[in-house]
This record gives sequence, C-alpha cells and structure tokens, in this order.
Amino acid sequence: MAIAFDNSFARLPATMFTALSPTPVAEPALIAFNDALAENLGIDVDDPAAVFSGNVVPEGATPLAQLYAGHQFGNWNPQLGDGRAILLGEVVDAGGIRRDIQLKGSGRTPYSRGGDGRAWLGPVLREYIVSEAMHAMGVPTTRALAAVATGEQVYRESALPGAVLTRIASSHIRVGTFQVYAARGMMNELKTLTDYTIARHYPDADGPQALLDAVIARQAKLIAKWMSLGFIHGVMNTDNASIAGETIDYGPCAFMDDYQPGKVFSSIDQMRRYAYNNQPNIAAWNMAQFATALIPLMPDQDTAIESFTLSVNRLPQLYQDAWLTEFGGKLGLKQPTGDDVSLVSDLLDLLAREGADFTNSFASLSEDRPEDHFMDRDGFATWAARWQARKPDEALMKAANPRVIPRNHQVEAVIQSAVAGDFAPFQTLLRETTDPFAPLDAIRRPLAAPPAEGEAVLQTF
Ligand code: AMP
Ligand code: MG
Ligand code: MG
Repeated sequence: MAIAFDNSFARLPATMFTALSPTPVAEPALIAFNDALAENLGIDVDDPAAVFSGNVVPEGATPLAQLYAGHQFGNWNPQLGDGRAILLGEVVDAGGIRRDIQLKGSGRTPYSRGGDGRAWLGPVLREYIVSEAMHAMGVPTTRALAAVATGEQVYRESALPGAVLTRIASSHIRVGTFQVYAARGMMNELKTLTDYTIARHYPDADGPQALLDAVIARQAKLIAKWMSLGFIHGVMNTDNASIAGETIDYGPCAFMDDYQPGKVFSSIDQMRRYAYNNQPNIAAWNMAQFATALIPLMPDQDTAIESFTLSVNRLPQLYQDAWLTEFGGKLGLKQPTGDDVSLVSDLLDLLAREGADFTNSFASLSEDRPEDHFMDRDGFATWAARWQARKPDEALMKAANPRVIPRNHQVEAVIQSAVAGDFAPFQTLLRETTDPFAPLDAIRRPLAAPPAEGEAVLQTF
C-alpha cells in the first residue's frame, strides 16, 4: 500500500467532523516534497502531485473536516472548524507515533464561512520553511510533507497563484476542539474527545485533571522554546493552541531581527495581544480556556474549579523554569540556577538597549570576538566577566544558538521569486534553515545577515 492509513479520528462520533473529499484543482504541480519525512511516515506514492493536491484520494483515506470553535483575539467564536483543510487520515510513523496527514488549501467545507477554502502560494511556502526550520531547531511543531501548486488563481488583494500544503501533526486537536463541545453542552463528544486525547497523547493521564496538567507542562516548554529563538507566533488563538503541544498554524509568524521585547509583526494584531513578550501570558490565558472546557466533565465542579485554577496558575513558574533552561543553554550553562536569571536578563536588556540582532548576538557568544557585536563595549565586558565566571560550555552554545533562521525579509523574498516562477531561492532557504546550527559559509553568510536598511519586513499578513 502507498500509504498505510490507520484512521482513528474518523471512528469518533459523526457530530465531531464532516466527511468530505478535497476539491480537485486544475493543474497540480509539485513544488516541494519532504522525502525524509515521507520515509519516516512510510509514505510512498507514485504521483505525489495528484495525491497531495487532493485530486486523487489515496486508498484507505477517510477524508474529513474537523469541527472546532475558539477565542480569536480574545473574542469567542462559537464555530470555526477546518474551513480550508481536510484530514486525509493518520499513519503510525517509524517511531510508533500516530501522525495526521492534512491537506491545507484543499477547498471549501461546511466550516468555510465566507472563505474560498484555498491558500495562496506565499503562506504555503512560509509554513513549509518555517515549520521545517522550527523542527530542525528542536521545537515541537507540525511538519511540512509537500507543497503543490494548483494551477489556479486565488483572489486576495489581487489574483495570486494557489497552492496546497500537506501538514503532518501529532494531531489537530486544539483547545478549541474541546471548547466547541463544552459550549454546546455536547457531553458525549466532550467525554469522547477527552478519552481519545488521553489515549493518543497522554496515556499516563488518569483523567481531565492530569490531562490539563500535562498540556500545561508542554505549553510552558513550547513557549520557552519560541522565546529562546525570538519566534513570534502572531495568532495564538485558542483554535491555534495544539493539545499535543506543537507549534501549529504558521500564519503571520516571524522571527525578530533586532531584539525588542514588545515586538509585533501581524497586521491584524492591533492590540498587541500576541506580542513577543506577551506569549507566555497568552499561553496561560489559553490554558484557562482549556480548563474551563474540561470543568463540565468533573463530578464535583466546585472542587475542580479550585484545582484547575491552581494548575493554570502553575504555568508561569513552569514557564520560568523552562525559560531558564533554554536561555541558560544559549549562554552555555548546563545547569542554570536562580542566580543566572539576572545574567540572562541583563544580556537581554543590553540587546534591547542596542537594538542588537537577537539571533546573531547569541551566536556571536561562541565566536572569537563577541564584543565586536556590541556598541556598549564596557557594558558587554562587565556582563561577559560575570558570564565567563560561570564557565560556559561552547558545544552547548553552538547547539542552542542557530546561525541561520528563516528571517522574515528572506521568506518574503523567496515568495516573491516563487510567484515570478523561480523556486530556487525557496529551495536554498529551506536547505540552509533546516541545517540551522551549521557554521556559516559563502552561501549561508548572506542568509544570516539581518535586513539592511529598508529591507526589513515590519508587518506580516
Ligand atoms: P486561522 O486564523 O488561520 O487559525 O483560521 C481561522 C479559521 O478561518 C479556521 O476555521 C480556518 O479554517 C478558516 N479559514 C482561514 N482561511 C480560510 C479560507 N481561505 N477559506 C475558508 N476558511 C478559512
Ligand atoms: Mg488556525
Ligand atoms: Mg492560519
């Protein structure tokens, strides 16, 4: 068999999804295919363009669109759902982990509302590169298996080339998947979803309380990873909060160039809700929504409210601990202690004052003359003396501080080239950012450079 499907979600109550096939596209053409990932998933298809455009539904697939709801920018939306995505099915990968195979941009569904069900090439390429780079940097994330051009136009502000992304995820269960059943009082579905989620993701959890704690622990670690890379998700709505603890939905996301703690890229985030330094707070807010959705399952709700509240309130400390591990690692500290918190934050303050490049400043710490990266030499020297006294481990630093990341201006540039028909810059950026910790060379050096004056992309859409 080309794809050894083993579809568990499709066996859940029919009220939790809509079974339907992807809408075929005019002229599928393969842009990118992730051979290593395909091998890991045991996927071997003769015509990937046909399958991963949605034109040919492979044998054993049970295509469906999932129902969910969510808070978008803090506002409750009682129904969302896969408006432009189709879950083809699941496979169990080489490591024994069940993975969703989802087509994104595969046509309208009952959850599309006003949308066209399609994606244009730009966001498909961005998600492909950024998700694969995140994976290479050790961040839990959905992956990209394939990108296929549709040969059709998609209408946004203008007519743009269409594409379909094949996304691989530990699952597509979101906080919003729980919220929709809690809000509608659909207790059977809420209970079924909870049991399913525990069995699939947290087999050691013995009920909603343990599930909540486990999800909170993964969120804390995930956000600490984002922060350590200067990653801004941009749209941390509850429907984009994965219960498996993966980064999901690469929309207006971006990595910071110059370090600014309050940085926002997304054009629609006018209240700065999803600013870089607000991400840990939003994770806690999202977990509070998750806890709220689990309450109806509890026999003694008053007691559950108390203990769930305690759980959610533990997130900031779990996050702080994870943050210290991540940033300690960036400074080469194997076992950072409470005293190292100020070592990290004093360096970050220095970066903020100088508007220094986040990625390159950290990378410079394991290079010959890090002081050359700082304008305030004395400030850096004072800090570096404290740091050196902690005997930083160079190998640890080199493995924690990427040299080449998908910088926003470069992602935009490869999208523009691709729209003009040249995919070579996309392939180069993908290749180099999926080898993030390798030393710089002639090809990598320009990719590691921060945007020149006027080159910076200040807003994402
Ligand atoms: P997002 O902001 O990407 O998390 O998407 C929020 C909701 O809008 C989800 O239910 C999506 O499926 C839906 N959506 C986004 N873009 C489209 C589109 N082009 N057509 C239909 N639905 C869409
Ligand atoms: Mg989404
Ligand atoms: Mg999105």
